[in-house]
Amino acid sequence: MAATILVVEDEPAIQELISYNLELAGHHALKAQSAEEALDMVRTALPDLVVLDWMLPGMSGIEFARKLRADKRTQGVPLILLTARADERDKLHGLETGADDYLTKPFSPRELNARVKAVLRRRAPQATDDAVDIAGLKLDPVSHRVTGNGSPLALGPTEFRLLHFLMTHAERVYSRTQLLDQVWGDHVFVEERTVDVHIRRLRKALEPSGHDRLIQTVRSAGYRFSPAA
Ligand code: CA
Repeated sequence: MAATILVVEDEPAIQELISYNLELAGHHALKAQSAEEALDMVRTALPDLVVLDWMLPGMSGIEFARKLRADKRTQGVPLILLTARADERDKLHGLETGADDYLTKPFSPRELNARVKAVLRRRAPQATDDAVDIAGLKLDPVSHRVTGNGSPLALGPTEFRLLHFLMTHAERVYSRTQLLDQVWGDHVFVEERTVDVHIRRLRKALEPSGHDRLIQTVRSAGYRFSPAA
């Protein structure tokens, strides 16, 4: 499944190179030339990952990282920091501000893609191609197939994304707003009750194998995927 990756880099040539390579790897790249521009973009929709240059005009990469981590809505967004400095102290500083990984310039596209993959696998498993299998319910992002106890289940595209997110974040409760951010990528332009509509459709689709019971309503909090009763 393609991840939406926001690339914050002020040097156009490097920006192009990174974005081009991420697109080649099957991702969707969003470009920002400054931290200010990136903040505006993040306000509208949450990316699956941010690739952030340390040295930016205006607000620095570090300041931007701090702002992301200080806001409850954006604190979970995975972050890879790009730095031209090889200094160990700076790397440490970068990790302390909440970066999940860092790359020292110059780096190869292959190295960047490997780091992106590793961070997504760890922090945003719904944005990877790994198959998920919980309590007889199987979801395969590559073939876009879902089976319940071995029998195929028919899901619409939104229900598929919703189930993928919930299965990769089992046992955690998500509010409607969080689900809009994570699954629709947008908390501004979609109404909260849209979530309820798709949860209903998802349960209906999982009914044939009895897996609809794994989609649990947590009163006044949201929804949770759990094989436990
Ligand atoms: Ca720069």
